[in-house]
Amino acid sequence: MTQVQLTIRSSGHCFAEGHHVMKGAPKTPVRFEAIWAEIDHPTQGKILYDTGYTWRFLDATQRFPQRIYAELTKVSILPEEEAHRQVDPAQVKHLICSHIHADHVGGLRDFPGATSWASEECLAQFDRLPNWRSWARGVLKSLFPDDWRETCQTFESTTQVSHDILGQGYDLFADGCVVLFPLPGHAAGQHGALLQTTEGPVFLVADAFWDIRAVTEGLVPNPIVRIFFEDMKAYAQTLAMLKEFHETHPDVPLVATHCPQAAKRITPHNA
Ligand SMILES: [Zn+2]
Repeated sequence: MTQVQLTIRSSGHCFAEGHHVMKGAPKTPVRFEAIWAEIDHPTQGKILYDTGYTWRFLDATQRFPQRIYAELTKVSILPEEEAHRQVDPAQVKHLICSHIHADHVGGLRDFPGATSWASEECLAQFDRLPNWRSWARGVLKSLFPDDWRETCQTFESTTQVSHDILGQGYDLFADGCVVLFPLPGHAAGQHGALLQTTEGPVFLVADAFWDIRAVTEGLVPNPIVRIFFEDMKAYAQTLAMLKEFHETHPDVPLVATHCPQAAKRITPHNA
């Protein structure tokens, strides 16, 4: 069976209020890493699952009203943390967008030789949102390459597979080692990637939860965050599905973008 090599990385961070991340927790700010993954495929080259923040986030949010987004999130990003400084762009062949929020697509422009992948629903959302108010849905269109919409490939165009718990997925290279599954709720079109790595399976779940304790202890976000979420009902269903997956496959790590547990796996940018 084909296996990939996985390196968990991070580019920049922001802060969220503790009691938003977990109902009943103190208000103390919680550090949110912007985690992404470097995936080495034996024949398809390097694949990135998300790309974290870049300086472009700060640039795109300088003016009102986008500035509100920056003020709410308090983003920090060092130049040396940016994805293209951690991975040689010449080697990156594929960019998978879990969803199109700014902290996931910040580096897309730095990998001009790579093919972008997203779900049909993400592309539809990109089309639906007018430039002037997309920021309120976490989307900053200036972060995307000019030809992104025309050249981006869809998960749905690849080989369909079925998983007994995760439902219908898309096997990116038809070799079983990178399979995308819908994780609706947090953002339109969000997909996780179930990887077969040299160290066993790993499920990258983006923002399906912010803290693994949502799955293991039922400590879910404060309902106040529903204003940032696409669909709270779908979010709860996705969480229930991941709980079942975790109970059935307790050895498969669930790696979420901002989860403190996942942050322990980060290979530092200067390592
Ligand atoms: Zn998000």
